[in-house]
Amino acid sequence: MNTVTNPSAASVPTPGLLASAGRGPLLLGVLAIAALAVFPLAVHNPYYVHLVETILIYAIVLFGLDIVVGYTGQVSLGHAGLFGIGAYTAGVLVFKLGAPLWLTLPAAIAVTAGFGALLALPALRVSGPYLAMVTLAFGTIIQILINEMSFLTEGPLGIKLAKPQVFGHRLGETEFFWLVSVMLLLALLFVHRVLRSHLGRAFEALRGSPVASDCMGVSVYRYKVYAFVISAGLAGLAGALYAYSEQYISPNTYNFELTVLFLLAVIMGGRKSRTGALLGAAIIVLLPKLLDDLEWFRIGAVTLAVLMALGAAVLLARRRTTVQRVAIPVAGSIALAAVSFALQSMTDWRLSVFGLITLFVVYYLQDGIVGFIRKALGKPMLAAANNAAASPSQPEDALVRARADAPAELLSAQQVLMQFGGLKALNQVDLRVMRGTVHGLIGPNGSGKSTMMNVLTGIYQPTAGDITFAGTPVNGRTPSDIALSGIARTFQNVQLFGEMSALNNVMVGLHHTFASHMLDVALHLPRYRREHAQATARALALLRFVGLADLAYEEARNLPYGKQRLLEIARALALDPQLLLLDEPAAGLTAPDIKELVAIIAKIRAHGITLILIEHHMDVVMAICDTVSVLDFGQKIADGPPAAVRSDPKVIEAYLGGEAT
Ligand code: ADP
Ligand code: MG
Repeated sequence: MNTVTNPSAASVPTPGLLASAGRGPLLLGVLAIAALAVFPLAVHNPYYVHLVETILIYAIVLFGLDIVVGYTGQVSLGHAGLFGIGAYTAGVLVFKLGAPLWLTLPAAIAVTAGFGALLALPALRVSGPYLAMVTLAFGTIIQILINEMSFLTEGPLGIKLAKPQVFGHRLGETEFFWLVSVMLLLALLFVHRVLRSHLGRAFEALRGSPVASDCMGVSVYRYKVYAFVISAGLAGLAGALYAYSEQYISPNTYNFELTVLFLLAVIMGGRKSRTGALLGAAIIVLLPKLLDDLEWFRIGAVTLAVLMALGAAVLLARRRTTVQRVAIPVAGSIALAAVSFALQSMTDWRLSVFGLITLFVVYYLQDGIVGFIRKALGKPMLAAANNAAASPSQPEDALVRARADAPAELLSAQQVLMQFGGLKALNQVDLRVMRGTVHGLIGPNGSGKSTMMNVLTGIYQPTAGDITFAGTPVNGRTPSDIALSGIARTFQNVQLFGEMSALNNVMVGLHHTFASHMLDVALHLPRYRREHAQATARALALLRFVGLADLAYEEARNLPYGKQRLLEIARALALDPQLLLLDEPAAGLTAPDIKELVAIIAKIRAHGITLILIEHHMDVVMAICDTVSVLDFGQKIADGPPAAVRSDPKVIEAYLGGEAT
């Protein structure tokens, strides 16, 4: 399904559920589809069919919630509200207009996505606990609105509706189960494809490092909103299916408890995982039922204890954990099994047991059940299957375009003042950077070097002063806008997207090369396939450029420190910048690493890219800089060729002191 027509990119891993996943998952997928098809025929008890149907519907919500929680790292307590909006969109359309299925489902998705945008636009200006509060308030308001708008929603009475008709035929319970299954699979495919595309990388990146995302031209705010809208659309679809499934909707369903359950399911199942979402959905649907019935609770508790003991034994045998670490969880689950036999009735204990299990999972399995299993099996969070991908693609010279034609001055900063309270971190600083040069920026710690970089890249708005880059003003523009206009950077404190592979880190830098929309991504249209293949080849070439080709599929956080700094450079180069800012790239590097770095900087410059280099290693500065500016207490005290600056008495006094020789 994913043949890439471009021959030079033939060995590049293609995006897609089947192509990149190998045979095992394909077989699993076929089995799962077969199981879903057979299940309602084999199980005659409609109660169980309905239970599984609910799990599937919840899983659709959780796929979406996971995008927000697992990938972008935001909290949402508004998803029960969104789910309710989906349910009521379908319910009201059926009740008032007798609308058919082909209308209600898309309408539910669209209306809920709209509400998602409405919620996200203001809410995402805040984060953390404030965002949790705003989304919680949203959920509450929705519930109240549904209750009060009786003319539309029938208020507390609720709305009854029948199963939908398809081609004039009213679906039975079994057929509706199949419909839900198909919707689940479509949602799964959609979410999977979106998350593996540049959109998904943008979501993941902004969790990894918002400031680096912005500086790679990926607007944090825009993609947070985007994630919320997609997530809301899925909640809307699930809500509509739920309305038909229950055949009755009323406002109380979409309450605080449900919203917490959704969040809990993502955390328990394991974030950033579709299996985790399914598992989480199964837990929140089945666990309360299990706890209703003492017999089932005993069976469940014993099963859990056995599984825990077996799991611990496997982990110990593979030396992946210690006795101390597994003692409490194993003992806890055995104790739970024992308690289950001591109890005479379940009713009084339900909530306590549910709470205990939740605490237990959150405390001991922070990556959720799926994360735990992956760790136990030694499978990294990000599957790195396709190691054979290093393709002979573009020659290195194609990495960056030389820009010899343009005027000589690339960047000019005039009288820049950056004030933090009473502190003038930059005080009337002028800076002129000529095209094609390496411009050193040196000075003691705290002299304002990094602040200058933050001002140049839009992270800080200067208190006063003008900055012009390639003839256009920089002031007042957003970091992502400035990045896209051709200024890339690295950070003094490495800002990688830790959970993403080295390759995907660079792919985030290549985000600007994608014009594909969600539809291209979801349907894998030729435009997206082409862009993906090109970006992958380019990212691999960039990794080769900095000598990291062998580590392309390693998670960034697992790379040695020196390699992380090189990866940041590769990612910055992906922006195809005219100006590259490096903030102490040699800090913390070993001598051989520094040599490699100097060679790479020379190569970058040879490709026509202008550099500003903040560096403490004077030998590096002397070796590669054409011009050096010296800052001290926020003021520029010297400017000129390295040799002249080095012998300047003011510079020697303020910075070089005895060390410079
Ligand atoms: P350098 O990179 O030259 O070591 P910085 O530019 O990081 O120095 O810092 C210059 C001064 O500005 C320091 O005194 C620092 O404490 C201050 N500073 C930098 N950023 C901020 C901020 N966001 N808020 C307050 N003070 C800051
Ligand atoms: Mg600094």
